Amino acid sequence: MNVPLVDLKAQYAPLKDEILSGISKVFDSMQLFLGENVQGLEKEFAQFCGAPCGIGVSDGTNALHIILRALDIGPGDEVITVSHSFMATTEAILLTGAQPVFVDINPDTYLMDVSQIEAKITPRTKAILPVHLYGQAVDMDPLLEIASRHGLRVVEDCAQAHGAEYKGHKVGSLGDAAGFSFYFSKNLGAYGEGGFITAKDPELATKIRKIRDHGSGVRYHHDIVGLNGRLDEIQAVVLRAKLPHLASWNEKRREHAVMYNSLLEGLPLTIPVELTDNHHVYHLYVIRVSNRDQLQAYLKEQGVFTGIHYPVPIHLQQSVATLGYKNGDLPVTERVANEILSLPMYAELTDGQIGFVVETIKKFIAQKETLIPA
Ligand SMILES: *Cc1c(COP(=O)(O)O)cnc(C)c1O
Repeated sequence: MNVPLVDLKAQYAPLKDEILSGISKVFDSMQLFLGENVQGLEKEFAQFCGAPCGIGVSDGTNALHIILRALDIGPGDEVITVSHSFMATTEAILLTGAQPVFVDINPDTYLMDVSQIEAKITPRTKAILPVHLYGQAVDMDPLLEIASRHGLRVVEDCAQAHGAEYKGHKVGSLGDAAGFSFYFSKNLGAYGEGGFITAKDPELATKIRKIRDHGSGVRYHHDIVGLNGRLDEIQAVVLRAKLPHLASWNEKRREHAVMYNSLLEGLPLTIPVELTDNHHVYHLYVIRVSNRDQLQAYLKEQGVFTGIHYPVPIHLQQSVATLGYKNGDLPVTERVANEILSLPMYAELTDGQIGFVVETIKKFIAQKETLIPA
């Protein structure tokens, strides 16, 4: 049996006719950018998130970058975030000219350790950028309290958490603004590039809209310096066809996580922790083992494809060496990067496939009596 990490074809099959007929209409009309489908998606996805304003953008990296620009964050400013994320989170900060400042993560959830934020605040700090990694929300109440006490903006990175909830509220509705990615493998994925911004304040949303389209509200009149961050109609067709299914796909992911949890229980590895206040949407199902690389290689030999999200912490990447971080600065982040393994996870995964993944892990453990609990 072969079990991929994600299976895009299984999701496409039942939506094929709807998507192709929508794309055909776009081609007939030749309204290719920011047309009725983007406008429709902006309403529908903002509503899904419980956010007052929604803006479709070109991708998740630009989503975060545009938000920071709209908040006037730039050279001389600092933004507090995590190193345990996809590189884009930090890139979005660096592209504004501001400095990222990293806090470590919680060793159980792998999410921002909110108790470390306050010690990192300086007169230059402008914003906090929590990442709802793997599909689970950061502990937002204490984070929002710190932000409000220090007059800081809060920008959520929701790229892995479409539909996740914190205390009954959807992510994307918790901070000043939030960036989503519709990269193909995310819980809601386009068939090309796509992203989304939710915002609380309509004035901020208007500025975000302008920055997305070269700083222009009226064509060829440029009020502020912007960029090209537009979402195209074809991607909006795909996303609108998928959006009505997102909640049920997320439920399927949650059911798969429950099954993985029960089958993996008692084995010498760490399973994901879902906090009681959270509705985790399992973008990734991440276990921890000390001999991760060996396990990953064995699973691959047996036809089970896994991932590592992410093997090198951002603060140790060559591209940001000038920030001056070194090994040992973020001990939990560094340790976790060596031990995490993402098992196959997508809505269409079958019980048989999950059983096969777990049986294969058990076979590995039986062969390697040296497997040490993480
Ligand atoms: C995917 C991702 C992004 C970037 O999104 P793109 O659409 O690929 O630009 C940002 N942050 C996190 C946590 C992500 O997983």
